[in-house]
Amino acid sequence: MLQQTTTAAVDSYYRRFIKRFPDVKTLAEAELTEVQRYWEGLGYYRRVKQLHQASIVIVNEHNDIFPDTFDAVLALPGIGRYTAGAICSIAQNQRYPILEANTIRLHARLLGYSDDPAKSFGNKLLWKMAEKILPETRPGHFNQALMDLGSLVCTPKTPKCSICPVFILCQAACRGTQNQIPALNKGKTFEERTEVALVVEKNKKYLMIQYPESVRWGGLWDFPRHVADSSEKLIVNQKLLEDFKRITGYSCSIQKQIMTIRHAVTKFKIKLCVCQAELTGQKTVSEYRTYWMSKKELAEIPLNTTARKIVNSILCEHHSDIQS
Ligand code: SF4
Repeated sequence: MLQQTTTAAVDSYYRRFIKRFPDVKTLAEAELTEVQRYWEGLGYYRRVKQLHQASIVIVNEHNDIFPDTFDAVLALPGIGRYTAGAICSIAQNQRYPILEANTIRLHARLLGYSDDPAKSFGNKLLWKMAEKILPETRPGHFNQALMDLGSLVCTPKTPKCSICPVFILCQAACRGTQNQIPALNKGKTFEERTEVALVVEKNKKYLMIQYPESVRWGGLWDFPRHVADSSEKLIVNQKLLEDFKRITGYSCSIQKQIMTIRHAVTKFKIKLCVCQAELTGQKTVSEYRTYWMSKKELAEIPLNTTARKIVNSILCEHHSDIQS
């Protein structure tokens, strides 16, 4: 839960999650859709699937006990070298290094490494450094101390070298290059993108699609959604209608735009136009699973963040412009 966000943002999600799934067996036995519902709003939905899969592996292959060897931890779904190292060193007092944003910056500065640490050579070099400086005892404390040193003292902008306990060992501070290291990446550039979500109501039920497991948002439900390509000048056009038919099996006509949601996902700045639509024909073959849902069902199913905003708006019967 804590990857890519802050403890403060995660706190309430974590408490709610742990209350419902207090042990690995409860998590493994739960339906994925329910687990996803508890994760809803945290983003990066692949993680919750991997967490659920990992709980099943722990129950089936490790007798409900979290594995205690690095290789077995690394083999769990969703666990990479950093996470396995953090778990084994911090939770199990085993001697494994870690490397994450704070320690990458810290080690690069200590070494005076001025190239991009994300490149293969730099990455290998920093892992080697992390391994080499790891003490025989209390590796978990050491790893946590390094992360704290990176986040509190060796900060991305204006590192506090004058109070740094490793100042004397630091090549960057010695050369006065600490503000140029790590090599600046070019910054996040966003691409503008327009999407259209269609709200179709029939007999007080709403048409929803479920994403197949193989795609982003796999398993989550959503309003039928069209991603406009750069050639589409109008929000409502033939491509949108064809896409709607391909996804849902229905033909429709657009009535009006009811709200706009602006949000950012990975490299995209998205303007999501939410439109009300009416069906104009019977259902044919559809690419996605479709289902007509009552307001009660909409309140209970796992949705992506913007679909939840649309649902909240429907539940409040209040349409407006939302900026997130
Ligand atoms: S001396 Fe400065 S640049 Fe070097 S590790 Fe400490 S805070 Fe970072």
